[in-house]
Amino acid sequence: MKKTTTAKKAGVSKKASARKAAAPKKVTERQAYAYLRKDKRIEVIDDERRVGNSLIINLKDGFRFNDEGEHIFGEDSALEAWESMKRVQPCGCDDCLKALGKLEAVAV
Ligand SMILES: [Zn+2]
Repeated sequence: MKKTTTAKKAGVSKKASARKAAAPKKVTERQAYAYLRKDKRIEVIDDERRVGNSLIINLKDGFRFNDEGEHIFGEDSALEAWESMKRVQPCGCDDCLKALGKLEAVAV
């Protein structure tokens, strides 16, 4: 392994990779939906748009949206939902900890 080369590049490539992530090529609604379906942080995608609701994203245990304990969010399109997935963070609420079997460990 060329560790030195990798380490040198790591400092510089931080900006490059950030730019890469921030500039997604035009993603279609269909592609966005495919991305969402592959996203391991999502438990269920509930498309309620036909009944006038939103595309509901149910996050898996251990993930949250804006606030702790917020595991579900809705958007008008898969594209918006996909964009919103960038805001998803690990969740440490009691429900998630319990679901992940970590509650005892934390409580002690
Ligand atoms: Zn949670």
